[in-house]
Amino acid sequence: MLLGHNFIGFETRSAGDKKLQAFSTVQKENLPGDFAIATADEISAAVQKAKAAFETYSQTSFAERAAFLEAIADEIMELGDALILRAHLETGLPEARITGERGRTVGQLRLFATHLQDGSFVDAIIDTAMPDRKPLPRADLRRMMVPIGPVAVFAASNFPLAFSTAGGDTASALAAGCPVVVKAHSAHLGTNELVASAIIKAAQKTGMPDGVFSSLIGEGSVLGQQLVKHPAIKAVGFTGSFRGGMALMKSAVNDREEPIPVYAEMSSINPVLVLPGKIAADADAVAAQLSASITLGVGQFCTNPGLLFIINDSNTEAFVQKLSNALAQVPAATMLNKTICSAYQSERQQLLGQPGVQAVFQGEEAGADYKATASLAQTTAENFRQNSALQNEVFGPTSLVVLCNDAADLKETLAHLHGQLTGTVMGTPDDLAQFHNSVEVMTQKVGRLIYNGVPTGVEVSHAMMHGGPFPATTFAHFTSVGTEAINRFLRPVCYQDCPQEFLPDALKDSNPLHLMRKVDGVFTRNAVGRVAAVSL
Ligand code: NAP
Repeated sequence: MLLGHNFIGFETRSAGDKKLQAFSTVQKENLPGDFAIATADEISAAVQKAKAAFETYSQTSFAERAAFLEAIADEIMELGDALILRAHLETGLPEARITGERGRTVGQLRLFATHLQDGSFVDAIIDTAMPDRKPLPRADLRRMMVPIGPVAVFAASNFPLAFSTAGGDTASALAAGCPVVVKAHSAHLGTNELVASAIIKAAQKTGMPDGVFSSLIGEGSVLGQQLVKHPAIKAVGFTGSFRGGMALMKSAVNDREEPIPVYAEMSSINPVLVLPGKIAADADAVAAQLSASITLGVGQFCTNPGLLFIINDSNTEAFVQKLSNALAQVPAATMLNKTICSAYQSERQQLLGQPGVQAVFQGEEAGADYKATASLAQTTAENFRQNSALQNEVFGPTSLVVLCNDAADLKETLAHLHGQLTGTVMGTPDDLAQFHNSVEVMTQKVGRLIYNGVPTGVEVSHAMMHGGPFPATTFAHFTSVGTEAINRFLRPVCYQDCPQEFLPDALKDSNPLHLMRKVDGVFTRNAVGRVAAVSL
C-alpha cells in the first residue's frame, strides 16, 4: 500500500496539509494514494541531511558504493509486478515497455557498479617532482576527480524508471559519491514512492549514511525552486521542457550566491537527412523505419525524429506519400499525461499553422481519450531558414519534411539548425560521399551522429553521448546516459607536494587501487618510481 509520504533520508514525513494524486490516462481517473506535498521545513531537512551525509558518503570506497548500487538494483527487482503495474497506470506506457525500462534501469545501476570497481573515472594524473629542473624546480602535482556535493535530481515525465527516481542522474550522482535529493514527477508519484523505498532499503542494508538519498513531493515552482536555490545543493540533473530547464538554469545562476551547474536535457527535434540514392534504392524500407521511429512510444522520446531533410527530385513526392501512408496505419495511442497530451495537440496545431507549412497527413485529434495520432507536415528549405518557430519541439509523433533544392541548399539550411541531441544520415555509399559537406555541418550541431539507423534507442554504455549543443542541453560537453554521465558530478582537484599519507589512495605512489593512471605523461598501472609501461 502506498503511504504518500516524503523520504527525508531514512525518515518518512508527511506534515503538509496539501496532497497530490496521480491521474491515470489509462483508467481516466485518479489512482489510489494521497501524496503529501513536502513542507519548507521538510525540504530543508532533506537537503541538510544530504549535506551531512556528503561528509561520509564522499569518503566511501568504490567497492562500498558499487555494493550500494547493486543493492538498489536488487531491491527494484524485488518490487516485482506491483512496480510495473503502477508505472503503467501512471504513464499509459504499455507494461512490456515498463518491463524493458526496468531492465534498463537496473542494468544502468549495475553498469555504474562495474565502472566504480574499475575506478578509472577518477582520471588520476601524476606529474612527479623535478627538484633539479632548471631554471626552476617542478613541484609534485597529482590530480584526480572528486565528488561535487549533494545533487538535486528532477524525475522526467517520459521515463518513469530510467530517467526518474533511480534513473541515470541518480545512479551517476551516487556513483560519483554525491548524495541525491529527488523531486518526484507529479505524474508518477506512486512509482516514485516504490522506487524511493527500494533505494532507502538498499542504503540501510549496505550501511550508507542517513541522508544519502531523499525523495520529495511538490510543485516545481515551490519545491523545485527551493531545491535549486538551496546553498547546500551543488548541481542539478533535469530532463523536461525547455521552459522548465531554463527556469532552473536562471535560478541557479541569478538567485544564488554561488552559481551551480544545471545539467538540463530539454529540447531536441533530431534531424534526419534522407538522401536521394537511399530513397531511390529503398523507399519502402526507409518509410517503414522512419514511421516506426516517429511513432515509437507515441513520439514521447527526446530522440524522436521531428525533422526530415529531403532533396526534392522525381522520387520525393512518392516517398513522402509512402511515409504518410505508413504513419496513417499507426493507431492512436495513450500519451503520458493530460498536460503532455494537450501540449501535443496545441504544438502540432502551431506547427501546421505556420506560414508555408502544409499538412501531408494529420491523424484525428483524440484528446478526450488522452490518445495521440501521428502527423506529417512539409515545407521548403527557404521557409525553414526564415522561420525559427519551425524548430520548436512538438513532443509527440509529428515530423516536418524540409524539401531542399540541391546539396548547396541542404548545407545552407543545416547551418540554421539549433543544437540537437542527435543527427541521422540515411544514405547509400555514393550519397555519403556526395553529401559529406552537409553531414559535416550537421555534426557541429549534434551530440550523436547515426548512420543508416534511427535516433530512437539510446544504448547505456561507455561510449554513448546523450547530450548536445544548446538548446538540446545546457552543457554540450556532458552526456546524461552511459558511464561518462558521472563526470557531471565530479570536479578536479590537484594536490601539490602533498605528503603520501595525506593523499587519496588513487594518487599514492604504491597505487593500491591498481588504477590506470597517467604518470609523467604515460598511461600505466605501475607504482610511481617503477619503470612505466604503456599497458592499457
Ligand atoms: P516540465 O514541465 O519541464 O517538468 C519537469 C520537471 O521540472 C517537473 O518536476 C516540474 O515540476 C519541474 N519544473 C518545471 N518548471 C519548473 C520551474 N520553473 N522551476 C522548478 N521546477 C520546474 O516537463 P514535463 O512535465 O516532463 O513535460 C512537459 C514538456 O516537456 C513535454 O510536453 C515536452 O515538450 C517536454 N519534455 C521533453 C523531454 C525531452 O527529453 N526533450 C522529456 C520530457 C518532457 P512540476 O511539474 O511539479 O511543476
